[in-house]
Amino acid sequence: VGLRERFSYYMSTACYLHILVINMIYFTATSITIARFYCLKFSHSEDKIMQYSKKLEALASVDALTGLFNRRHMNKHLEELERDYFNASQPFSIVIGDIDFFKKINDTYGHDAGDYVLTEISKLFLRFMKGKGEVARWGGEEFLFSFEGDNADFVFVELHNLRTLIKSHEFKYKDTLIQVTVTFGLEEYDSGIGLENTITRADAKLYTGKVEGR
Ligand code: GH3
Ligand code: MG
Ligand code: MG
Repeated sequence: VGLRERFSYYMSTACYLHILVINMIYFTATSITIARFYCLKFSHSEDKIMQYSKKLEALASVDALTGLFNRRHMNKHLEELERDYFNASQPFSIVIGDIDFFKKINDTYGHDAGDYVLTEISKLFLRFMKGKGEVARWGGEEFLFSFEGDNADFVFVELHNLRTLIKSHEFKYKDTLIQVTVTFGLEEYDSGIGLENTITRADAKLYTGKVEGR
């Protein structure tokens, strides 16, 4: 007698249905468990990817030496400020600051001393800009400030305070005092000329400041 005949011989219909239902329940429960397992695993991986991408985004926004925002991040920030200007008439001013005779600092005291001046002045800038706006390392020894919610007249006074602060700050590298001054170019954002031209004008004023004696 074949297996199939013997099997159907011993199994009643009720028993067969019973086994079928149990099998179905077992199969459904197993499928749900496996699906849940992979679902949880996937959402955990997704969380990790989000965390890593946030970390990468933060790293890509910061200048490695000074810890300030870099040019890329500042450009994005300025575009946001420009949008705020159109949506909420929020004024802002752009200031570009450039350390005077920085090459001479490097040549006289060494490249590491130059790096020290950059990091030290960055800390000073960060403290000063708290509640006023943002500051970024725009280039080698150049910094771009966004003074937010203020017009140029007000920022002019702020820059005077910043200059005084730099003058009275002790830049001391390995027991050597280093004299540091910075020249600034200031321009209030003007929607008539746009962001790029506002930056160009601030830069032109910085250049005038350099020519006129720093
Ligand atoms: P000016 O008053 O006209 O601005 O003159 P300057 O000497 O400050 O400007 P210049 O453009 O002649 O020299 C800038 C120097 O900054 C040259 C470059 O080697 C130096 N520099 C740029 N980035 C760094 C850096 O990350 N660390 C150090 N130590 N030096 C840097
Ligand atoms: Mg420069
Ligand atoms: Mg310079």
